[in-house]
Amino acid sequence: MPQILPSVFVSHGAPTLPFEEVPARRFLEDLGRELGRPEAVLCISAHWESRRPALSLAEAPETIHDFYGFPQALYEITYTAPGAPDLARRAAALLEQAGVQPALVGERGLDHGAWVPLMLMYPEAKTPVTQLTVQTRDGPAAHLELGRALAPLRAEGVLILGSGGAVHNLAEWREGEAGVPDWAQAFDDWLVERIEAGAVEELVGYRSGAPEGERAHPTEEHFLPLFVALGAGTTEDEGRGRVLHRSFGPGGLSMSAFAFGG
Ligand code: ZN
Repeated sequence: MPQILPSVFVSHGAPTLPFEEVPARRFLEDLGRELGRPEAVLCISAHWESRRPALSLAEAPETIHDFYGFPQALYEITYTAPGAPDLARRAAALLEQAGVQPALVGERGLDHGAWVPLMLMYPEAKTPVTQLTVQTRDGPAAHLELGRALAPLRAEGVLILGSGGAVHNLAEWREGEAGVPDWAQAFDDWLVERIEAGAVEELVGYRSGAPEGERAHPTEEHFLPLFVALGAGTTEDEGRGRVLHRSFGPGGLSMSAFAFGG
């Protein structure tokens, strides 16, 4: 029997994370060792959005350098993990059972929301990976339901990995800014408390209920992967998760990470 893995949400930070000597990088390196090697990874990245859920059937996904103005070395990184088209089809079947009509996309590679954490967690690049999109028009509750539908994959040795940002407001980013702004700390503290308490409804309603909810996420794409992980690792009766990591980058960019179930 494969190991039943927790579902996990990580904050991927800037694409330069693999080159930074920061706690979040070391955390991701340790996380891969702690989790062990899954059969395959289903990554829900903030950097692939679509109107309805879509999954990649790529057999050998290319490394997508979907960012601008960074050092040349970043554009030369390749992460050569094999694709996981069988997992994509299996995930699509589970979504269909839940009444969702997903699209299967032929040759979509790995964006940096997927390969930045994965190259730190699984540098040997042997674990097959596919990606699932986020749907920014649909909001947290719909992503919670996607996670619930995908939960059986955990018992099949699949790591469900949401990759986004626990606080993500690039308009607030200031070069060289030290310290954590109060608004970002307040939101991150609220998030940690609600996850540890299993307050799923409050989490879903974060935009109106959380301190600085809209400032922490002016757009939702970096937060929605959390709800897929939350749905995949919790049930109606048990909604609690646990904190794996907390730290901040510049501009209140939270690098918090959480695990659910397992
Ligand atoms: Zn990002």
